[in-house]
Amino acid sequence: MDFILQTKEVSKDFSGKLAVDHVSISVKKGDIYGFIGENGAGKTTLMRMICGLASPTNGEITLFGNRDLVSQRHKIGCSIENPALFPDMTAAENLETQRLLLGIKDKKVCMEILELIGLDDTGKMKTRNFSLGMKQRLMIGLALLGNPEFLVLDEPTNGLDPMGIRDVRDFLKYLNEEKGLTIFVSSHILGELEKIATRYGVISKGKLIDEFHADELAVRCGEALTIHANDIQKAEIVLKGMFPEVCCTRTSEDSFQIKGYVEQAGQVNKSLVEAGIMVKALIPEGDSLENYMLNLMGGKVDA
Ligand code: ATP
Repeated sequence: MDFILQTKEVSKDFSGKLAVDHVSISVKKGDIYGFIGENGAGKTTLMRMICGLASPTNGEITLFGNRDLVSQRHKIGCSIENPALFPDMTAAENLETQRLLLGIKDKKVCMEILELIGLDDTGKMKTRNFSLGMKQRLMIGLALLGNPEFLVLDEPTNGLDPMGIRDVRDFLKYLNEEKGLTIFVSSHILGELEKIATRYGVISKGKLIDEFHADELAVRCGEALTIHANDIQKAEIVLKGMFPEVCCTRTSEDSFQIKGYVEQAGQVNKSLVEAGIMVKALIPEGDSLENYMLNLMGGKVDA
C-alpha cells in the first residue's frame, strides 16, 4: 500500500492546551482525503505540521513513506490559512512572484497554471477585484507551482456560494482524476466534500473521532431503503444482481431493508418493475449528513 501521508499519535500543545491530541491518520496515493471538523477543532494546526509550518510536540509524521520530511516536502503544494495574495497584482503577477520566490526556472509554468485554474482570461484585472471563488482558485494555483504530487488545502470552499463550492469541488476532482494528485482538504462542513472525498477523517476538540472510506458514509448516516413488494424473494435476487455487496434484512412478510442505496432508489424501482415485480413502496430512511456530524461531535440534533 502506497501511503502519501501517515501521522502517528501526533499532538500539538499550546501552553498546556492540546490543539491536536494524539492524531493518527493515513492518506493513500490517489485519495481525496476530506478532513472535517468544527471551527477550532485542530484542522489547520495539523495541516501546518504536515507542511512544515509548525512542529509537533509529540508523535511522528511520515511523508511518501519517509520520516525525513525536509527531503519530501518539495512534493507537497499547500494552501493554508488563506495565503496572502498581492491585491494590486494580477493573477499572472501573483503566480510569477511566487515562481521567482520558489526558484522555479520554467517560465511557462505560470501560464499553464493560469489556464488550468481558468483564470487565463483575467488579463489586467487586479486580484483585489476578484470574486472569492476566483481568489480560491488562484490560491490553489499557487499551491500547484512546483508540480506537487500531494496537495494540502485548508478550507478552499470557505465562504463560497453553492456554485463556487461546486466549482472548487469539480476542480479538485479534475486534479485528482486527470492529473493524478493526491489531495488532503479540510472543511468544517461535511456536505461540502461529499461526492468528491474518497476517505474522511473527522476531528473534534483536537481528537480524531472517526476515519472511514466514502463508501461507508451512507451506512454511517444510517441510510437505508425499505422495499415493500409482492415477491420479495425475487426482489432480493434482482437487487443482489445489481449490487453484489447488498445485504437484505427482512422487516415483514412483504418487505425487506437494505443499508445505503437511498440515492439509487429510482434505479432500484425501475429494475424491480422491469423484472415483473410489483413494488408497493420504497421508503428511504436515515439521517442527514449534518446530523451525523453533529451527533459525532456531541452537538444538538434535530428531532
Ligand atoms: P478553523 O476552522 O476555525 O480554522 P481549525 O480546526 O483549523 O479551526 P485550529 O486553527 O487548528 O482549528 O485551532 C485549534 C485550536 O488551537 C484552537 O483552539 C486555537 O485557538 C488554538 N491555536 C491555534 N493556533 C494557536 C497558537 N499559535 N497559539 C495558541 N493557540 C492556538
